Amino acid sequence: MKGNSYVNRLVRDEVRALSAYHVPDPGDTVKLDAMENPYQFPPELVEQWLTVLKTVALNRYPDPSAKALKQQLRNAMNVPADMELLLGNGSDEIIQMIIMALARPGAVVMAPEPTFVMYRMIAAFCNVDYAGVPLNRDFSLDMPAMRAAMAAQQPAVIFLAWPNNPTGNLFAEADVIDIIENAPGLVVLDEAYTSFACKSFMAKLGQYDNLVVMRTVSKSGLAGLRLGYLIGSKAWLNEFDKVRMPYNINVLTQASAKFALEHVDILDSQAAKLREARGQLMQSLTDINGVTSFESAANFILFYIDNADHVFACLKQQGVLIKNLSPVGGALLNCLRVTVSTPDENSTFIEALKACIAS
Ligand code: PMP
Repeated sequence: MKGNSYVNRLVRDEVRALSAYHVPDPGDTVKLDAMENPYQFPPELVEQWLTVLKTVALNRYPDPSAKALKQQLRNAMNVPADMELLLGNGSDEIIQMIIMALARPGAVVMAPEPTFVMYRMIAAFCNVDYAGVPLNRDFSLDMPAMRAAMAAQQPAVIFLAWPNNPTGNLFAEADVIDIIENAPGLVVLDEAYTSFACKSFMAKLGQYDNLVVMRTVSKSGLAGLRLGYLIGSKAWLNEFDKVRMPYNINVLTQASAKFALEHVDILDSQAAKLREARGQLMQSLTDINGVTSFESAANFILFYIDNADHVFACLKQQGVLIKNLSPVGGALLNCLRVTVSTPDENSTFIEALKACIAS
């Protein structure tokens, strides 16, 4: 077909080699695949939020620098006064801005693996080499391998998800510091799951010129808004801001996120409930014969089970959608990942899992 010959000739090889990020249609399943917060705002706050939205001018472009929202984020997240903020349409877009800005010919993006797949994918979008350094079997950082890879490949940027996705663990703080101190380039501490780990590198930003901290509101209850933020020195953020699309945070997101962050105590208490539920879910998984679960500081749990493909398909048939990581292979062979949810949804999952193991 004529169209295809154009495509083959014109679309970059590395783009044609990619498969698009696959998001399954959840239908009416119990959705435990994407680390969403299952709780919503109380009805009286929803009313107040709608009142705020009535004032939003849809005919106008958004404030390109989202000043009011940034100020609210500063207050709600205790951002150090001498650090800047950069906003993205989800932290995915921030990863893209960082890599685009650093994509000199020969530049390398590095991350320990397994980790969040978008670091690798966005490196490919930007035609930048990506080096994945395998984690140890217990998913801790393999420090000799990291040091050797840093020395050999001189990465322009290293992404460390802290806690890591999909493994759920927090890398040892001393190892992270060792990487920051020995990295030849930028280190991005991706703290997407910070509300569930209650730990952060934000206070260390002033100590290291090559450190920035990335976060998102997605996991703490606002995934639908698509808002991520980067915290770091003016020197870095001024440059990343140049590759940002001018109106990347739309007016509805700016107004809604600002409103939500004025009530951040509600998000915090939902995170506390989920942390408690994580402990119970972990216990229930541990009690099931044949399941090995991994320690988690995030709002999901990775677990190993024989015949994971069968269990995953069976759970789906029973109306529970989780994430099957087994196709990734390697350390994730026969691993499944479940998002921590309400006590009710967690027990629906546990009961379905027991039934599937027995089937
Ligand atoms: N970082 C990590 C470690 C993640 O797991 C995710 C989402 N799965 C993201 C970043 C992206 O989050 P968002 O684009 O929703 O802000």
